[in-house]
Amino acid sequence: MTEALLIFDAEEIAERDGARFQLDVDPREFGELGAEFKLASPVAVTIEFSVGGSQLLMACQVRGKWDAPCSRCLAPCAEGLSAAVDETYPIGAEKINAKEDIRQAILLSMPVKPLCRQDCKGICALCGKNKNQVDCDCAPPRTSPFSKLERFKKGK
Ligand SMILES: [Zn+2]
Ligand SMILES: [Zn+2]
Repeated sequence: MTEALLIFDAEEIAERDGARFQLDVDPREFGELGAEFKLASPVAVTIEFSVGGSQLLMACQVRGKWDAPCSRCLAPCAEGLSAAVDETYPIGAEKINAKEDIRQAILLSMPVKPLCRQDCKGICALCGKNKNQVDCDCAPPRTSPFSKLERFKKGK
C-alpha cells in the first residue's frame, strides 16, 4: 500500500471525472531532502485532480513542519512547511507519479534562514558562547574573520 502512495491511476481518475486525496505522508517517502533540515512526520498532502481535455490537472497542497537548526545560534527550531504545486499529466499514460513534483515543491519551500526566535542574538564570534543564554564581555561585533587577518598583517 505504501508503495502506491502518491502514485495515481490517471485513467481511473478521468473516468470518475476527477478525484481528491488527503494523505498523511511519511517524510521518508520523499527521500533525502538535503541540508540539515528535517521534515517532521507526517506531511499533510492534499491533492485535487480535475480533467481538462486529454489532461489531468493536479493541484497539490503540502503542509508540515521542518526541524531546522537556527541560522544564528544552531538551536533546533520548528519552521512551518507550506508548499503548493500545480501540474498536468496526460491521461492514458501509465500511472501518475506525483512524488517527484511534490518533492521539488518541498525543496523550493525550504526555509532560507530559520530562526529560533525573531531576535535571536546568535553565537559570539569571539568566545563562541550562545548570547541568548549568557552575555559575554567580548567587544561588539567588529569582528569578522577578516579583521583578525588585518591585525595579523599589521603586526608583521
Ligand atoms: Zn537562534
Ligand atoms: Zn563573546
